[in-house]
Amino acid sequence: MALSDFPRHPLTFGPSPVHPMDRLSAHLGGARVWAKREDVSSGLAYGGNKTRKLEYLVPDALAQGADTLVSIGGYQSNHTRQVAAVAAHLGLRAVLVQEDWVDWPDPMSDRVGNILLSRIMGADVRLDPAGFGVGFKPSWEKAVEDVRAAGGTPYAIPAGASDHPLGGLGFARWAEEVQQQERELSVFFDTVVVCAVTGSTQAGMIAGFAGQERPRRVLGIDASAKLAETRDQVARIARRTADMVGLGRDLREDEIEVLAGWAGELYGVPVDSTLDAIRLVGRLEGVVLDTVYEGKSMAGLIDLVQDGTIPRDSNVLFAHLGGQPALNAYSGLFRS
Ligand SMILES: *Cc1c(COP(=O)(O)O)cnc(C)c1O
Repeated sequence: MALSDFPRHPLTFGPSPVHPMDRLSAHLGGARVWAKREDVSSGLAYGGNKTRKLEYLVPDALAQGADTLVSIGGYQSNHTRQVAAVAAHLGLRAVLVQEDWVDWPDPMSDRVGNILLSRIMGADVRLDPAGFGVGFKPSWEKAVEDVRAAGGTPYAIPAGASDHPLGGLGFARWAEEVQQQERELSVFFDTVVVCAVTGSTQAGMIAGFAGQERPRRVLGIDASAKLAETRDQVARIARRTADMVGLGRDLREDEIEVLAGWAGELYGVPVDSTLDAIRLVGRLEGVVLDTVYEGKSMAGLIDLVQDGTIPRDSNVLFAHLGGQPALNAYSGLFRS
């Protein structure tokens, strides 16, 4: 099997744009930083990394005759908002279990941002008091059962579309896309920095890049504050995906690099380095990062460039995975 053997339903405009971040690079004093923008590559409700993953789940859902996509996330899940958009686009229903994943005091967090968008797009949004966890949840299984009991045909999509047999393929394809864009731009990205939580984004990249001739580092920045679980998830999905795309060798342990240090204590709660990174990139580049994911991975990139882990002569590609709608639930942090 190869990646091209898996059916894909396009949900994006085409390759996500790649551009240099020259003012940020100058500020850091070395390493040329570029961004590849999953946040501006789809017309479906602001897009993001889950849209690219769903391109490979949709043909499976349609082949099974599904009429309802059922998924799960936190109140401000970007993933469930993207599922709602894809369902609307395809003329399917969406049932979304939204759990209380984030210990965050904003009284609007179950009303604004992502959850608001999901409601606008017609999803059946179900609030659930359960806490953070990317595994299989009783509330989600119950939602799947409810659809069946009502005579519907559910298609179950786990948190982040990660723990799904097809979950890693979207970002294995991203690796091919990067290689094509490198040819066009005459550049080689020796280092990729990507946020990791449910894991299939980084895992897909690792599996995809592993088959290319020229090696590079794919540095995952944990944003779940549960490093061991994130790394297990990335390793498992990377190996499964590598197998599916016919890599033909085992992935080495050193190809799976997930780093701790920027998540703070809790998933979804920003720390000083997160807010500093958000302000810095907003002010230098006019590029907006969120408090849950990209602010944390960018904080990692900044430190790794400044401490020399990413060398000065490096071309580093920051995977911007989206997530800005969640900022609406964090307005209290930006009042001055
Ligand atoms: C889901 C998400 C991530 C993390 O991706 P995983 O595949 O879950 O590891 C990072 N950034 C944003 C904006 C996301 O929505």
